[in-house]
Amino acid sequence: MIAITGISSLVTNDASLERGKLGVINHAALVVGVDNKIAWTGEEINLPSEFVDIAINVDGRAIIPGFVDSHTHLVFGGDRAEEFEARMSGKPYSAGGIRTTMAATRSATNESLTINAHRLANEALNTGTTTLEVKSGYGLSVNDEARSLKVAGAVTTETTFLGAHVVPPESTIDKYVDLVCGEMLKQCAPNAKWIDVFCDHGAFDVDHARVILQAGAKAGLGLRIHANQLQHGGGVQLGVELGVASCDHCTHLNDADISALADTDGQTVATLLPTAELCTRSKFPDARRLIDAGVTVALASDCNPGSSYTTSIPLAISLAVLNMNMTCDEAVWSATAGGAAALRRTDIGALHIGAQADFALLNTSSHVHLAYRPGVKLVDAVFARGQLVAGSLR
Ligand SMILES: [Zn+2]
Repeated sequence: MIAITGISSLVTNDASLERGKLGVINHAALVVGVDNKIAWTGEEINLPSEFVDIAINVDGRAIIPGFVDSHTHLVFGGDRAEEFEARMSGKPYSAGGIRTTMAATRSATNESLTINAHRLANEALNTGTTTLEVKSGYGLSVNDEARSLKVAGAVTTETTFLGAHVVPPESTIDKYVDLVCGEMLKQCAPNAKWIDVFCDHGAFDVDHARVILQAGAKAGLGLRIHANQLQHGGGVQLGVELGVASCDHCTHLNDADISALADTDGQTVATLLPTAELCTRSKFPDARRLIDAGVTVALASDCNPGSSYTTSIPLAISLAVLNMNMTCDEAVWSATAGGAAALRRTDIGALHIGAQADFALLNTSSHVHLAYRPGVKLVDAVFARGQLVAGSLR
């Protein structure tokens, strides 16, 4: 067993410790068992010697659970730097830009899609992300969605079928919804854990989204929804009605939406994606309103080549604190345990006994620096399943 000692502050997210939302242990040690799960946490002074085969001293640095990024679109070809430049010159963003990436994705080989997805997953890992959800949604044909999900499956087990991202130009909405619910779902479901719909202006309305999600549920997939990003609509209410694991974006919410989410008692998480607002110069959602109402909030990157081309969860944490009225503790919790809740996982996003040993070593003494020092690389090393997978301990 490997004991990590000299931890200035250890964020466990272990509520049973009764040390606040983050379950922070100061002057801590952490033990990784032979099964690559957390075997022990506590104050170093209490570390039992029988738990120490190898000891690694991290000299007063902080350790946090690995980030759980529960919303990414890593399978795509090309990029949209030109569109970004145009948008930054005053042209507003609409969902249509997805079709540009669709064309690049359809013409890309499986190999190049896989290389690109791995490149981004590796980028995320280096900033502390140990679990990624990855969606399809840039193929928009039966064959291209099916191969996108195979690519996603090479990166993660948290794969999501997002055939209902936008309607491709060769189809009409009714025909396309039939295709998504029929042959496309049939070909994609074997490689997907979840189904998602972009329910918003310029994409799918509530009635179509309901039909698609119900078809996905029937095929055995878990449900998620892109809701209320571009304007207010019925997406969040639909998500709650269908018991989705997460309503993502939640930028435009009224009081009824917030109380509907709160009434789910955490079964439906609100996943906020502040880098999407940042990269589209849009209004940030008010996380304070959600948290004060009792809604479980997650933070994710929405990494995609159009509206949020970043894998950085530390950046999302900074934005959540500086622009969305979250406290530092809430933002770190939402990017770890919150992301796990959005994927309905209890084995990740926390460092309780028996959890998967996924954690990040920071180059500072406290997790507060993640918000306090925006844009600075603060992750020295990353462990996934008990193994050092990025950075170094020096
Ligand atoms: Zn998205």
